[in-house]
Amino acid sequence: MSNDVGEIQVKDLNTTHFQFQQAADHLGFSDEFRALLLTPYRELTVQIPIKMDDGRLAVFNGYRIQHNGARGPYKGGLRYHPEVDHDEVLSLASLMTWKTALVGIPMGGAKGGVSCNPRNMSQAEIQRLTRSFVSKIHLMIGPYRDIPAPDMNTNPQVMAWIMDEYGKIHGFSPAVVTGKPVGVGGSLGRNEATGRGVALVTAAYGKRKGLPVEDARVVVQGFGNVGSHAALILEEMGAKVIGVGDIDATLYNPNGFNTKKLHQHAIEERSIKGFPDCEEIEPASLLELECEYLIPAALGGVITKFNADKIKAKVIVEAANSPTTTNADLALEDRGIVVIPDILANSGGVTVSYFEWVQNIQQYRWDLDRVNQELEKTILGAFARVMDRAEKENVSLRVAAYLLALQEVAEAVELRSGF
Ligand code: NAD
Repeated sequence: MSNDVGEIQVKDLNTTHFQFQQAADHLGFSDEFRALLLTPYRELTVQIPIKMDDGRLAVFNGYRIQHNGARGPYKGGLRYHPEVDHDEVLSLASLMTWKTALVGIPMGGAKGGVSCNPRNMSQAEIQRLTRSFVSKIHLMIGPYRDIPAPDMNTNPQVMAWIMDEYGKIHGFSPAVVTGKPVGVGGSLGRNEATGRGVALVTAAYGKRKGLPVEDARVVVQGFGNVGSHAALILEEMGAKVIGVGDIDATLYNPNGFNTKKLHQHAIEERSIKGFPDCEEIEPASLLELECEYLIPAALGGVITKFNADKIKAKVIVEAANSPTTTNADLALEDRGIVVIPDILANSGGVTVSYFEWVQNIQQYRWDLDRVNQELEKTILGAFARVMDRAEKENVSLRVAAYLLALQEVAEAVELRSGF
């Protein structure tokens, strides 16, 4: 995907650093303290050699970066994607630190990934890759140390393999990973949690600002775990999903999609391509459709200074991590387009991951109502804190979210270290 500075890894790191520095300026942090909060605690890069199905030897690079653990065990997803590299993982790890702090989960921030293209790999190859990766990072993760979760191109099955491989070395430890299938200790509601959180935050914003989701036009980029559930739940809330895109197709239906049927199609065909009774449009024009809510739910760096002035949405809800570059953020603010930042909008996933971890530690299962009620309480609490702070200090929602998050982390660092 294109972005302002050409290289996604440079952009991602710059974006999170810029957002951090903006808030650190507001809070008057010293340079030394900023360095302490910005630099990661521990990084590991590993070689993952596996035999492919055709007998070839392939060697992949894997990463796990623990950014800040002052507030609790490290927590963050694992991404399998060709663009995964050190700087992207570091940027995403720091986002997790701010995200867990913002929603008040007693955990730190980490991220991991493998640079690979799972679209060209069989399930058996993905399983071998996952097991080999775990055998390299197992000393670094653990139920009270660092707990991975799904991200792009990883799913409950991959989490089950991680639990199994880790258990071979350390004994049965379901709490080492979240986002597992329910049958092996996963939480009810985890699979749809990120999308549900996106929908809850969108509806709460609409209620507070007089832009109700009932009858609102919604456009969603990415129809994987996050995008599909956000679309399904927003439609249940009364919204009209008029545009949807995935890596293979970009579809437009001004009357609103039947998202249940679209979801079924996407499961059966592994893509939205070929869904009937709608118009196929250019991928770039999806983000430029006129709508109330635009929800990027795929890769980072998709809203740039090159397309920010063409966006006609009233509100952007960042379901993906870092979908908006810094330049685009400033341009959107000038144009009065509100951005609900990723560390708030997509925090439903890590929130229910935390609930899954709690259930595993307690060896007890919550019912779905309890999971959803606790999710709603947690994410809407964070939403209200962000809105109140933004209104009080007359800053963007992103700056407000970072102010709140940085204060939480700074307090924990100070209390623990004495610095
Ligand atoms: P996923 O792999 O389930 O789905 C990704 C979707 O994006 C797919 O529909 C894919 O086709 C689409 N996509 C990929 N490249 C695209 C392109 N160039 N143009 C349009 N669509 C494209 O991933 P996911 O878990 O839904 O994650 C999506 C985003 O949400 C990521 O940025 C991830 O970091 C973020 N996120 C995920 C979670 C979670 O719980 N899974 C939590 C927080 C944030």
